[in-house]
Amino acid sequence: PQPANDRTTIAAISTPPGAGGIGIIRISGPQALTMMQQVFRPADRHCSYTSHRLYYGKIVEPSSERFLDEVLAVYMAAPRTYTREDVVEIHAHGGHLVLQSILELLLAGGAHLAQPGEFTKRAFLNGRIDLTRAEAVIDILSARTRKGVDLALEQMSGTLYRCVDAMRTSLVRLRALLEVAIDFPEEDVEIIDRPALLEQLEDDVLQPLHSLITSSTQGRLLREGALVVIVGLPNVGKSSLLNTLLQQERALVTPVPGTTRDTIEEYVDIGGLPIKLVDTAGIRDDAGEIERLGIERARNSINRSDLVLFVIDGSRELTVEDRNLFQAVCHKPLLTVINKSDLPQRLDRDSETTICDNGLTISALNHDGLAALKQQIFERITGGREQWQEEGCAPNLRQDIALQQAQRSLLLVRQGLEDGVSNDLIAIDLLDGLNHLGEIVGETTTEDMLDVIFNQFCLGK
Ligand code: GDP
Ligand code: ZN
Repeated sequence: PQPANDRTTIAAISTPPGAGGIGIIRISGPQALTMMQQVFRPADRHCSYTSHRLYYGKIVEPSSERFLDEVLAVYMAAPRTYTREDVVEIHAHGGHLVLQSILELLLAGGAHLAQPGEFTKRAFLNGRIDLTRAEAVIDILSARTRKGVDLALEQMSGTLYRCVDAMRTSLVRLRALLEVAIDFPEEDVEIIDRPALLEQLEDDVLQPLHSLITSSTQGRLLREGALVVIVGLPNVGKSSLLNTLLQQERALVTPVPGTTRDTIEEYVDIGGLPIKLVDTAGIRDDAGEIERLGIERARNSINRSDLVLFVIDGSRELTVEDRNLFQAVCHKPLLTVINKSDLPQRLDRDSETTICDNGLTISALNHDGLAALKQQIFERITGGREQWQEEGCAPNLRQDIALQQAQRSLLLVRQGLEDGVSNDLIAIDLLDGLNHLGEIVGETTTEDMLDVIFNQFCLGK
């Protein structure tokens, strides 16, 4: 990392586009205070700025002193700031034109427009946060359920970092022992106690590594959610079911990361999982249902789905259309939902075992059986509650890949220790494992990797 004082001063609008009560412009870098003073006129003309204190005043165009907005400004001296550099925040009125014109003044005064994620990247490069904490910021911004936010906050507080750090410390110790043994190869006595090393490797590194890798499935589900597609003939109650679930369990509505901010998707929060529910009939309403299945979009969402809810109407007998539709989707993980339990039942469950066995009986109208349905959806998607940890880390895909690479190298270390392979060869695999763990926290990271990570941020963060 380059030292902070070599850096440019960056500025960006840090609040989302669209009108709000206030909007914030953030400036970070060695020139932050100077740039603020070029455009800010405090109400108390002779004030000298105390760090971390808000000042009331005006923003003016420096050449003409033309008044642009009434604002609050705060100067925060390094290093007690988000980036560990000097930071200024200008709290202006939230209209985008106001914010844009203030930003333009700052850019004209020499500030550089911040790249997406650049503030957080600086926090990382200046050593304030490690890479797992920087990535947690992305997760907080894009979490879709409260549980997702909680896990991200936990990662932000350093849970994953500490876990990886403990493994690295332990490996460094093992490595030191191996180095000693390599330096004295001709000694008759065995300098290192291999059984003890093996035990330490197992308990302090391989075990925790394994459970982290297991929990990354949970991380993926929490971040990306799952797609549940509702399939069934017209009038079985698909839309009613969808609407009832949406009303009961509407999840946080958030922008999809990596896309423009106006792509909003809605999720249902089931046990903390963000679940995207799609009603296949909603895709086109004029054609017949089976025909609709031929439509590429319906087929697409069924193919991509993690679970199909196959809805039938319990108040009537099954028809050949129901059976055909079932055949078209039964290659997917599927849950049969027998709707309209409030009406007299005419469905012959005993002769329709393929479709009805393990089916759940509900009434979308009266909300009967919905709790059991949600429970089933959760269990089918997570693979059963036992595999679902209530707390702990949830590594993301990048972290998971590095964890698995580390695991591969360290299993070779274990093998080598067991098979009596020479210490210098074992040391090579051990170093490899250490490096992969280092990638997770950002100790051994390439510039390309950093670009990929920080490009996921939105502007101003
Ligand atoms: P879709 O075509 O599969 O989306 O079915 P709808 O949700 O539009 O429902 C079709 C009809 O069935 C509507 O008149 C609903 O009010 C009714 N309906 C849906 N669910 C139930 C239920 O659980 N019980 C009863 N009695 N009627 C229902
Ligand atoms: Zn419908």
